[in-house]
Parts: sequence; structure tokens; C-alpha cells
Amino acid sequence: MKKDDLQRGAILQRDRETYAIAPHIPGGFTDTATLRKICDVADKYSLTLKITSAQRIAMFGAKEEDLDAIWGDLAQQQGAPIGLCVRSVKICPGTLQCKRALQDSASLGLKMDALYHAMELPNKMKLGISGCVLCCSDSYIKDIGVVGTAKGWRILVGGNGGLRPRFGELLVDDVPSEETVLEIVARVVDFYLKSPKKERLGKIVEAIGIEALRREIFPQAPSASSESTTSTGSTASTTSTGSTGSTTSTQLGGQRGAY
Ligand code: SF4
Repeated sequence: MKKDDLQRGAILQRDRETYAIAPHIPGGFTDTATLRKICDVADKYSLTLKITSAQRIAMFGAKEEDLDAIWGDLAQQQGAPIGLCVRSVKICPGTLQCKRALQDSASLGLKMDALYHAMELPNKMKLGISGCVLCCSDSYIKDIGVVGTAKGWRILVGGNGGLRPRFGELLVDDVPSEETVLEIVARVVDFYLKSPKKERLGKIVEAIGIEALRREIFPQAPSASSESTTSTGSTASTTSTGSTGSTTSTQLGGQRGAY
């Protein structure tokens, strides 16, 4: 019986005969040559196309025996639509084009895509980077969501859509720079990689609680209500909102070691 072909990024379709594949298009930013190539290959192998919510173009109807030739003709990196890995990094245009943007989500998102797309993890992971709180990249329902604000960046963890939708919880707010976001996200991914649990990040956050996760990510952070400055003199803060909706504010140590 046929099944998904992880090696070739091919998903068995409803007819149990043909496959769908999806070239990697970081953040959905592309160019006419890439699109022409996709169209030419689709015509050659009689594939149908669909733009997906992961900012990729899915190509449906591939025969198993054509998969290698299709990838060869495309000469493009495979997307990661299946498997236990970072499936997608959804990115909005941010200050590159959007008049509402507060931060450069394209710059940050593409760096995160380069670092994490297709990285193997205990379970699947999706990332969303939005340039403002309107969250066009669905940052609140991503395993790791990043949102641009007037003060910097907000990082959320543990969100997901699907069968049991869950909003991500605030890990840290007012992160002053792209570099610091990348550093914090690296810590979250490292924590997840070392986790003995193979569940989605949201389930782990639910089990241990956001405060425990914060202690893992910011082990040298001062206690609640204290404050320290970063090497650049700025601070980041956390605000936890429990299931009851209660809220506390904490300034998280921004000294490099505290991150
Ligand atoms: S999230 Fe904000 S910055 Fe990004 S596209 Fe939407 S409105 Fe624009």
C-alpha cells in the first residue's frame, strides 16, 4: 500500500495513487522566474496547483515514478509539509511593504526560516512572524509566534490550530532587537529538542506551565517585579495570562546572561 514519502516531501493524496509536493518558498516571497518554473513543471507533468496557508504552492497529481524527475526539473528546495519538523515559517510583509507594520517581520522571519525550516524536532512545529498586532501570520496559533509592537517584539509559545486549537501564551514582551528574538527562540527550540516528551510544544507548556518554561528559558532572570538592563540598556518584559485570565507583570532580566 502506498504511503507518504517523507524523503521526497510527497504526500499521498485521496486517490491513494498520486502525490502532492510543495517547493520551499520562504515566507511566500518569490519571483517570476520561480513561478514560471513551477508553472512549466506543472504543465509538463499535468499537475494542478494550489497556494497553501503555509505560503507555499502545492503541486497535486504527481505520479510516484515522476517524483525524482519533477524535483530535478524544479531544481528547488523541498518544502517540509509533513514529518516531525519545522513545517512552516509564516511571514507577513511587515515594514517591507505594509503601512500598518511596526517591525520588520520579513527580515526576522526570513532569518528564522533559514535557521529552522525543516529542522527535525520531537513533533511538528509551526512559526509565525507578524509585523504588528493584527497578526496576519497567525502568530497566536503557532508553536512559536512573534509579533511586532511599538516597543519591539512579543514572543508567544505553545499555540496551534487543528483539532484542539490553542492560543499561544506570552513568553516575553518588548524584546528590543531581532538579535535578541533569535537568541530567545533558539533557547525555546533547544528546550524543545531536549524535552523527553514528544508532544506539540503547546501540550508541554500546558503541562509544566508558562512560568516554569520561563525559568527554563531565562534561568538567571531576576524574580518578579525586579528589573535589569540589557547590554544595550533596554529591557524585555513578561506578562502571564493564566487560564483564569489573571495577569501579572514582570520585568525579565535583560542582561545578556539573563537571556
Ligand atoms: S500583521 Fe500587521 S504588518 Fe503584518 S501584514 Fe498584517 S497588518 Fe501588515
